[in-house]
Amino acid sequence: MRPETKAVHSGEREEKRQHRSVVTPIEQTAAYYFEDTQQITDFYDGRLPGIKYGRYGCPTQHAAEKKMAELENTERALLFSSGMAAFTTTVMALTKKGDHVIFTGDCYRNTRRFFTEILPDYGIESTEVSVDGMEDLGHYIKDSTTLFFSELPTNPFLRVIDLAHVSDTTKNRGITSVIDSTFATPVNVRPAEYGTDVVIHSATKYLGGHHDLFAGIVAGNNKYMERIQQYRDVFGGIIDPHTSFLLLRSLQTLPLRMRAHNENGLEIATWLEKQPQVSRVWYPGCESHPDYKIASKQMVNFGGVITFSLEATEEQTSRFVDALRIPYIATNFGGPQSLIEQHAILTFYKDRTGAEKRGIGGNVLRYSAGFENVTDVLEDFSNAFRCLD
Ligand code: PLP
Repeated sequence: MRPETKAVHSGEREEKRQHRSVVTPIEQTAAYYFEDTQQITDFYDGRLPGIKYGRYGCPTQHAAEKKMAELENTERALLFSSGMAAFTTTVMALTKKGDHVIFTGDCYRNTRRFFTEILPDYGIESTEVSVDGMEDLGHYIKDSTTLFFSELPTNPFLRVIDLAHVSDTTKNRGITSVIDSTFATPVNVRPAEYGTDVVIHSATKYLGGHHDLFAGIVAGNNKYMERIQQYRDVFGGIIDPHTSFLLLRSLQTLPLRMRAHNENGLEIATWLEKQPQVSRVWYPGCESHPDYKIASKQMVNFGGVITFSLEATEEQTSRFVDALRIPYIATNFGGPQSLIEQHAILTFYKDRTGAEKRGIGGNVLRYSAGFENVTDVLEDFSNAFRCLD
């Protein structure tokens, strides 16, 4: 089946529902009962399917997990309470003391902090590589390297690595490749089809899709997922039944919503490139983007996030942001409302040196295209540009 059909039906048609409801119900419970002691032993001995305790999963969650596994073309998927819970649990499950990790540095700030500030305390070292250095990935590999991590596209410059190259380089060396595909979603790229071992999402973004829930997803084959599940059971970063329901509902409309994000993102990015007030646009669907070629080959489409810089000072850039009427000034992406952030201030206020080091000047903006009419959005931008005159 194709993504649109999987998004609507996968995970939700296998079991008969008690009252024949079309919609998968929320089973809002933490505790599950046994009829008698015999059922407990039957459960443990595998004769009785079911759930012992809600932290190990619930039916609504299992439906969403099956849907995500089908969408990503992997054997399994697991839901978590947030993208960070999904990411940290996965890395802890797949590494041990003495290991070495390679990661691309243009990524979510807390992801980088986990590698550089937290893992060393557990005896795990890491090397940051730039996307431009990926051709030489082999040079960074040590005997102790066990994990490669990258976002796809990366944050905030939307760089796109060559997934097949990563798989070719890591597979025969016993290195697990982990891709945070939050910016792409399975509608725009399915990393497992390029040999990626484990795929992670912050479902707080496009998958949840409405700026109203926190969730994380990990998808991969059983070889990895069994161990990641054991760690989730212990670490406890579980999603609750109601949020599972919201996510399940959102996943049904993911392909439709992504179509709008993709179309609006491309149209707005193309328009921004032509504006004299804009010094640079980073959008993988634009020919000017350094990874346009691989992005066009690997991705179906390019999403709704656009990073761009203004021909302006930091103060002028803030004035431009404040003059906009349509986007909220907020840090997230992937919902109906478009959002804008002056990255150096909203995300890096306490680490301006770090922002500068990564090329994130005061004039760099990250814009998440929502579902507003594009003509209205462009008029809003044009009006706000006047404050730069
Ligand atoms: N991965 C990416 C690419 C992100 O942008 C973020 C958050 O901004 C995360 C992971 C963390 O996700 P969450 O906020 O759901 O914990």
